[in-house]
Amino acid sequence: MILDDILKILKSNSNSIAYRIGENKYTYKQLYKYVCNIYHFLLENNKNKKPVVVYGAKEIYMKASFLACSFAGIPYVPIDINIPQNRTKSIINQVNPNIIIGDIDSNFNSISKNTIYNIMENESYNNIDNIYLKPEDTYYIIFTSGTTGQPKGVDVTYSNLNSCINWLKEITSANKEIILNQANFSFDLSVADLYLSLITESEHFILSTNSMMDFSTIFSELKKSNATIAVMTPSFADLLMTDDSFSEKLLPNLRKIIFCGEKLLNSTVKKMYSRFNNIEIINTYGPTECTFAVTSFVIPKDIEGVIPVGKSKSDCEIFILDENKKEMPDGTKGEILITGESIAKGYINFKSDKFIRFKGRKAYLTGDVGYLKNGTLYVDGRKDTQIKYKGYRIELKDIESNITNLGDIEKVVVIPKKDENEKVEMIIAFIKTKSKTELEIRKELKKRLPSYMIPKIKIIQKFPINKNGKCDDKKLLEECYG
Ligand code: AMP
Repeated sequence: MILDDILKILKSNSNSIAYRIGENKYTYKQLYKYVCNIYHFLLENNKNKKPVVVYGAKEIYMKASFLACSFAGIPYVPIDINIPQNRTKSIINQVNPNIIIGDIDSNFNSISKNTIYNIMENESYNNIDNIYLKPEDTYYIIFTSGTTGQPKGVDVTYSNLNSCINWLKEITSANKEIILNQANFSFDLSVADLYLSLITESEHFILSTNSMMDFSTIFSELKKSNATIAVMTPSFADLLMTDDSFSEKLLPNLRKIIFCGEKLLNSTVKKMYSRFNNIEIINTYGPTECTFAVTSFVIPKDIEGVIPVGKSKSDCEIFILDENKKEMPDGTKGEILITGESIAKGYINFKSDKFIRFKGRKAYLTGDVGYLKNGTLYVDGRKDTQIKYKGYRIELKDIESNITNLGDIEKVVVIPKKDENEKVEMIIAFIKTKSKTELEIRKELKKRLPSYMIPKIKIIQKFPINKNGKCDDKKLLEECYG
């Protein structure tokens, strides 16, 4: 399984680069030393194997801690520093860890960045003699937007991840690459580059979190990377392509781009192929609950029309269901159900009716709408109010609950404004309140929600009603934005 393969690579004493971030680079040999030292520290200090929270900004100690936890048979929970404090606390309280690695203020036992670096550099353990993790054990818990206003933790097993990474290796034919990372480690998009790089003895090239706010740094980092494979969201590619220099000249060795996370438009693909002559674009699809992705489609250069998400990996199967959970025939739209090896255990701390059994196998009701054509899947919207905005997954109810909880809110309706391609351009919260101003609400929300979830705030006195007596969202948007 993947941890056996990764351990073999770590033990090979290789001086090839395993991890590069900013000015810092680390070889596989160094990484092994770091992982060994954290592994022994955790075996000693976390004997009951409760989950470990790893908090930070993509620094090497995060990746080393993830691996140390995995070899030691301990689930880990990645939290990025861009998640505001209140939300981080909610995650930590749900996890109830023995240990938090990273600089964070909490009631739990935390190992500061300095201490973990000290352990990594100065302890002298030099061997991992046993892999404690069993296939059915939790590998990691990744939190995603939840309808209650609290993020929900997806419990992914070792066998889920093993299946995902072996499949990724196969569809990318990766071997000693330079793999570009876009996403921070609390998103499951990052799982692809984190582990594909390890299993193929590749260099994991990190776009540092801060640079995302600074275009010129992103471009100088991109140039430095000389990446051969990139994992990214279409939104990120669109953003990069607003600058003409995002082309073959910048990344002459780029040969594969793996897209995931949201609808990929034909226009994005066309532009990408025109800027990079020698690349292959792969569209992949799947929710965090199904371990990064379960379908893939290699996009031909001359493709026209809608881009499919492709065929499912061999140990999974896709079905399209009607309202009564009956299988629909080819070409008919319905809810996408995924079955098979990639389905996570569920959410931590609560049971969800989205995790079901279907035809005797584990299954997950995605809430995505789509259809199959000869085994090839097309995704076409959602059944509910979950959206993707700038590549991020957001439950509109998560935003609504957080606004309601501010107090003195009479009514709130959160609506996504979409463009002609159904892509969300803006999220707007229409709010009736007696005392609060738009500025005050924004300020309060910043403490509770990550920046990409903070909507534009509009205070209004009256909500238009449709003939069913519900808020008329369309009219509300028209009244405000024409
Ligand atoms: P996440 O859990 O953040 O990976 O988000 C999963 C959701 O993103 C899916 O349920 C879909 O709604 C959407 N999604 C992921 N990949 C694609 C894709 N290739 N095309 C369309 N939607 C996608």
